[in-house]
Amino acid sequence: MKVLVTGGAGYIGAHAVRELKKAGDEVVIFDNLIYGHRELAQGERLIVGELENTALLRDVFAEHKFDAVMHFAAFAYVGESVENPSKYYRNNVAATLNLLDAMREAKVNRFIFSSTCATYGEPKEIPIPESHPQNPINPYGASKAMVERILQDYAVAYGLKFVALRYFNAAGADESGEIGEDHNPETHLIPLVLDAALGRRKHITIYGTDYDTPDGTCIRDYIHVTDLANAHVLGLKYLNEGGASDVFNLGNGNGFSVREVIDTARKVTGREIPVVEGARRAGDPAKLIGSAEKAKRVLGWKPKFNHLETIISTAWKWHQKRFAPEVETV
Ligand code: UDP
Repeated sequence: MKVLVTGGAGYIGAHAVRELKKAGDEVVIFDNLIYGHRELAQGERLIVGELENTALLRDVFAEHKFDAVMHFAAFAYVGESVENPSKYYRNNVAATLNLLDAMREAKVNRFIFSSTCATYGEPKEIPIPESHPQNPINPYGASKAMVERILQDYAVAYGLKFVALRYFNAAGADESGEIGEDHNPETHLIPLVLDAALGRRKHITIYGTDYDTPDGTCIRDYIHVTDLANAHVLGLKYLNEGGASDVFNLGNGNGFSVREVIDTARKVTGREIPVVEGARRAGDPAKLIGSAEKAKRVLGWKPKFNHLETIISTAWKWHQKRFAPEVETV
């Protein structure tokens, strides 16, 4: 199989590239390197460009005979999406439409899409099943829900075969320590906690300690990025074997609070992690946990790294290697 991986120089895309290579597939990465990193392309063929560039896409699809596309390229900062929705709808929706039309022209009809639990909005039931209504509460979630809708319409009208994967909280790093998370700016809990462990930041601020949860802090479903990546490979296999287009949650089915994450990070790193208790962050639901039973049943997905300790220790291995040389406190 030859697979075009958009956003393959980003955090989750790079892990998918690694899993595709392990499965024996050939990969071409397409990334604009705004948030991606050249070194995360791991020596694979990398085309640097914008998905808005129709002529470039046409050339890429003409040069390579792709069997499928995995689409990770997107902006993913919820707060920024509220302040600048245009950026999100252009990049996450319009550029995806461009990609889908280039695929249509080139007669490539298998598509694996990075979606998100942010398409659900405020959960009405926990764990969240795929049948939960989609009422996104920010433009980021809305942009992903819009693409899901477009995929359904393209499947009916043009015979597109897609799998949309709704991720819960992606975390951890490849066991090798060679690839991992490096966002700039970083907003995610685990890398920020590890920054505090490394002394790159003075403390971690807990966003809200008065939630209706056992320890008052938010609960999230952290899922190892290698397990996420594997689900993409399985999604492609499912489509190749004639599976119908569908959506799947990818989560652990377990929730951990912010305090539990910090305590586990203290144990894993053996470092002090100073904590400041701060105010709630706008738009954070108290509890987000996904049911991934459907992915397990239909795709045969078996998450391997489902302990929080493993998730944090793989992240720590990468984080030290990537960031330990800089010890400035910010
Ligand atoms: N969080 C926190 N301090 C931080 C960053 C995040 O307390 O500096 C909390 C955040 O409120 C949420 C959880 O950690 O409850 C996970 O946040 P993250 O941004 O990693 O992922 P999200 O759930 O927003 O996708």
